Amino acid sequence: MSLTNRILLAMAAGILLGSGFEWLLASIDPSSRVAQFIEVGLVDGLFYVVGKIFIASLKLLVVPLVLVSLICGMTSLGNSGRMGAIAGRTLGLYVLTTGIAVTLGLVSASLIGPGYGLSVVADVAFEPKPVPPLIDVIINIFPSNPFSAMAQGEMLQVIVFALLVGFSITRAGEQGQRIAAWFRDMEAIVMKMVGVLIELAPWGVFALLVRLFATMGFDTIINLAAYFFTLAGILIVHALVIYPLILKTTTRLNPLVLLAKMRRVWAFAFSTASSAATLPVTLRTVEKRLGVPKSVAGFSIPLGATINMDGTAIMQGVATVFIAQVYGIDLGPTQLLMVILTATLASIGTAAVPGVGLITLSLVLQQAGLPVEGVALIIGVDRLLDMIRTAVNVTGDAMVSTVVAYREGQLDESIYYDPNADHDTHEGEPHSA
Ligand code: ASP
Repeated sequence: MSLTNRILLAMAAGILLGSGFEWLLASIDPSSRVAQFIEVGLVDGLFYVVGKIFIASLKLLVVPLVLVSLICGMTSLGNSGRMGAIAGRTLGLYVLTTGIAVTLGLVSASLIGPGYGLSVVADVAFEPKPVPPLIDVIINIFPSNPFSAMAQGEMLQVIVFALLVGFSITRAGEQGQRIAAWFRDMEAIVMKMVGVLIELAPWGVFALLVRLFATMGFDTIINLAAYFFTLAGILIVHALVIYPLILKTTTRLNPLVLLAKMRRVWAFAFSTASSAATLPVTLRTVEKRLGVPKSVAGFSIPLGATINMDGTAIMQGVATVFIAQVYGIDLGPTQLLMVILTATLASIGTAAVPGVGLITLSLVLQQAGLPVEGVALIIGVDRLLDMIRTAVNVTGDAMVSTVVAYREGQLDESIYYDPNADHDTHEGEPHSA
């Protein structure tokens, strides 16, 4: 069985077993031995530990990977001066797709009306966090200490540092060449580490999902079914219809190939609910399975994981409309425009970790003059939705990266159309173990 299929199987098994545990724990005496074994020994014991180790190992690779791939990407471009064009196209597409996403969320939710006639009472209090002023956000992109940036995992700062190092290497003559060769060797090693981790993924994904589904209350989903299914539906449409349309209109590529090759990345995004933790797999897939060169992937994927969050933007659009409907507030055209603007900005500023989208939602609500406590209404169902929207977020990154590589004339179509690309991880080899 191919590795991707094994990961998908582990996903399904994890969801099934986790849901089974949840049902069992709800129906038996919680102090019984069986309940104790499942709860303490497995859910909060074994599966918790394996899941935590899996996420930690993924995160471990993020900073080294971003640093070396971006530097290698820059040095492979050499003195061609294409970086400006690549960066411009990438940023433009990220903002555009996010704008489309939030508009789709707003319009569909307004038409479907999931919040009408609903009187949901929030059972959790919500404390909005203060949002840093925009000026600080901009200043903070520029690192004053590269080691602190890496230690803190400040991705935008690491990107800026890597761009500077890469740029200088290409202009440092012979010494630069030597260091560039060293970074290429490092990249091969870090990519190998990603490969090892992907091989172990079925276990990690299984453990994460068992624990998650064993502890997730489904009753809240029933109460909020209209919101849940509206949002989940729009997220799926965005990934399976809008992205292929964008890819089709901007390139001559077959979008189904991209979607099929994203399955493994989806499994990671879904089980970790973090674009940042998924980054090693996204980057590897985009380079080795979609044929995007390092110069484009090394820049667009880390940047995308940090600033391009279409799934999160859709959530903010739908959630805003839903909360307005529940509170019986009509959103005027200026308010809608405000939501589009702030949701686009907020999804750029949203950190690529689980649940942050919910926090920035409060900013959007505030800007639209809606009650910020509304966030509390949807907290209960957010975890599962977070998993789905993270999968959308990473698909957007991969799609934009592919489009930019194609338009730069640098996409390797022989890799894109090769179902057996990236043999390293046994992907596509029918007889591999
Ligand atoms: N979990 C999302 C991500 O990492 C961010 C969010 O919407 O909360 O992509």
